[in-house]
Amino acid sequence: MAADPGARGSADTRLRRGARPATAEPHAAADRAPLLLSGADVVLPTGTVPGGRVAVDGTRIAATAPGHAQVIDLTGHWIVPGFVDLHNHGGGGASFAGGTAEDVLRGVETHRRHGTTTVVASAVTGDLDFLARHAGMLAELAQQGEIAGIHFEGPFISPCRKGAHDEQLLRDPDPAEVRKLIDAAHGHARMMTLATELPGGLDSVRLLAEHGVIAAVGHTDATYEQTLRAIDAGATVATHLFNAMPPIGHRAPGPITALLEDERVTVELINDGTHLHPAALRLAFHHAGAARVAFITDAMDAAGFGDGRYLLGPLEVEVTDGVARLVEGDSIAGSTLTLDRAFKRAVTVDGLPVEDVVAAISANPARLLGLADRVGSLEPGKDADLVVLDAAFDVVGVMRRGAWVVEPGAAGQRLD
Ligand SMILES: [Zn+2]
Repeated sequence: MAADPGARGSADTRLRRGARPATAEPHAAADRAPLLLSGADVVLPTGTVPGGRVAVDGTRIAATAPGHAQVIDLTGHWIVPGFVDLHNHGGGGASFAGGTAEDVLRGVETHRRHGTTTVVASAVTGDLDFLARHAGMLAELAQQGEIAGIHFEGPFISPCRKGAHDEQLLRDPDPAEVRKLIDAAHGHARMMTLATELPGGLDSVRLLAEHGVIAAVGHTDATYEQTLRAIDAGATVATHLFNAMPPIGHRAPGPITALLEDERVTVELINDGTHLHPAALRLAFHHAGAARVAFITDAMDAAGFGDGRYLLGPLEVEVTDGVARLVEGDSIAGSTLTLDRAFKRAVTVDGLPVEDVVAAISANPARLLGLADRVGSLEPGKDADLVVLDAAFDVVGVMRRGAWVVEPGAAGQRLD
């Protein structure tokens, strides 16, 4: 595979403007009969309703179902809001960070089948002109409603904490260059990860905040005090807390302590059992509280696909037993996680309450993205984005905008 990031995602491989994406909704909303999903434990913002009901009319959740609604009995299951992933580089063998529009749609579809009904596509460090061109392609997919916007992870990150980013292409944050990427995303830039302690870092944070783009502290070598300054300048997210930043020291509390302490910050956590020890995850969860945690995948192409050799941006990655590492340097290179596994693990291994997991995996990221009026919770008027889990917390059904992506089969007995 070509290792030149500039050679990928060129104009001729982009989805033609107006072309129908492969994952477009199969039926117009009007063609679908109203549905009543009944009998499941339904997780609402106010708590779990045992044996509850969710009515779906067209693309939305309805307050009540009409008499002719098709009833689907989901007794013994959970219904939770569709998952919202703030930080995701790909899946299904396809990359959001360097692939074509068709690749991105394949990755989006893979994550949808695992319950992620809203996904932000994350780029990785690359040449600025390449990133700007790539953002233009991703912006078209955001315009079509396939992705919820773009996250730039790099190139304005610390060489000391570069993780799986190409050191040759790292640069100090420059507000003019940050502005170039924001403009290239045509209103669909949602988040940028920065090492805010570098020259130009705080000015860049202010610029992002002014443009309504989340400034995320990450891949950083900042001290506790430097991190507080970044938060005061407008940073509101910690990019994969604990990973790619200095650890907590009792005399040097570092960025982790500052990010956990400040009420203005939401912390991303990768709950795959590889990036974080369960005790570290619980520490973050208990300190920040369920309202300030966002589960992310940080997934790369191998998510939902399999072991093998892949590219993450320009760098080669080897995936063995589901763990992705750089071929050179051995650094962990993203995850192969899907959010359904993060959910199941949070409940069955980490021992977190289902309602707290729903907050971290749906409601909080939806709020951060400014999408809480449409997604992130099961409430009348919102998009009918939901996940049906069995008693073991495995996905048996996924609905997006009122259409089944995964239809509950034997699990959901039809009573019509
Ligand atoms: Zn990432």
